[in-house]
Amino acid sequence: VFILAIESSCDDTAAAVLHNDKVLSNVVANQLIHSQYGGVVPELASRAHQQNIVPVIDAALRKANITKEQLSAIAFTQGPGLMGSLLVGSSFAKSLSLALNIPLIAVNHMQAHILAHFIDEDGFDKPTFPFLALTISGGHTQIVKVNDFFDMEIIGETTDDAVGEAFDKSAKILGLPYPGGPLVDKYAQLGNPKAFAFTKPKVPGLDFSFSGLKTAILYFIQKKKLENPNFVEENLNDICASIQHTIIEILMDKLKLAVKETGIKQIAIGGGVSANSGIRNTLKETENKYGWKTYIPKFEYTTDNAAMIGIVGYQKFLSQNFETSSVVSKARIQF
Ligand code: ATP
Ligand code: FE
Repeated sequence: VFILAIESSCDDTAAAVLHNDKVLSNVVANQLIHSQYGGVVPELASRAHQQNIVPVIDAALRKANITKEQLSAIAFTQGPGLMGSLLVGSSFAKSLSLALNIPLIAVNHMQAHILAHFIDEDGFDKPTFPFLALTISGGHTQIVKVNDFFDMEIIGETTDDAVGEAFDKSAKILGLPYPGGPLVDKYAQLGNPKAFAFTKPKVPGLDFSFSGLKTAILYFIQKKKLENPNFVEENLNDICASIQHTIIEILMDKLKLAVKETGIKQIAIGGGVSANSGIRNTLKETENKYGWKTYIPKFEYTTDNAAMIGIVGYQKFLSQNFETSSVVSKARIQF
């Protein structure tokens, strides 16, 4: 089975070709235009997708050494995401499936962040069901009980900002460009995580909150700058390490509670923030510390990509779960 997958939910235009559960090509065109606005501008994202989609799909087919006629199906991101961005991918997928007369498969982006672990990769184990998935990305922070490929239950989620936003907004306060998450990670590796303390939110159960942390960081920086205008520049590594440390503790506290409540010790992480080196290291340590079995995705399958859309497409292909071209894109969508 050869699947062409298209991802266009936010600001990355991506296409991939899979042969069964193996990735033959995985192409991403990042939209650099948004960095000058400090966040994604939906109208510009949609327009950039329109410019990028044909060359990105061409590149994916070329790298996979596959012709359009060899494709078995087209998978695309149905949602969640920005409507104008989603529509570019879905319209293209629909036209191509009609032109080639092959099945059309709609994929939930958040399920894809989780099911990326089922891509066949040397050196990476696939989780066995049931497992817990911590999905941490630019728009979501969820703990999901994954019973089967398409049987997922959200058992905890953020009540305000997503963890990716916590990273990006903290970075913005520090004067770092968008998206700041990867930069906080970079500086944190050189700093002392215990240099500064930020209070953790008190949220009942398995839910999260990150908006208070952003405010705490803002007030802390404002206060310190009054004493020393160069405070941020002089302490950037320590500040980043301390912010990241606090975020990791918030995530780990809830994850420990989820393990306790469900009795499930198989943990997979997914989403853009799972690229974070501190989170990856901390999670790995739980294998010895608590006897958990952890699944950490290959770096290129953490932030938005089409290979993860393709692996879900492959699973849906196996169960003949196809759509007609009247399928609609959804900005918000549950499992
Ligand atoms: P969603 O998947 O919820 O729809 P999205 O697709 O926009 O949101 P992703 O591409 O999955 O989000 O993740 C992007 C987020 O990941 C951004 O907030 C970015 O700052 C963050 N991120 C990427 N790399 C790192 C890193 N190394 N450390 C911390 N955050 C990171
Ligand atoms: Fe995403």
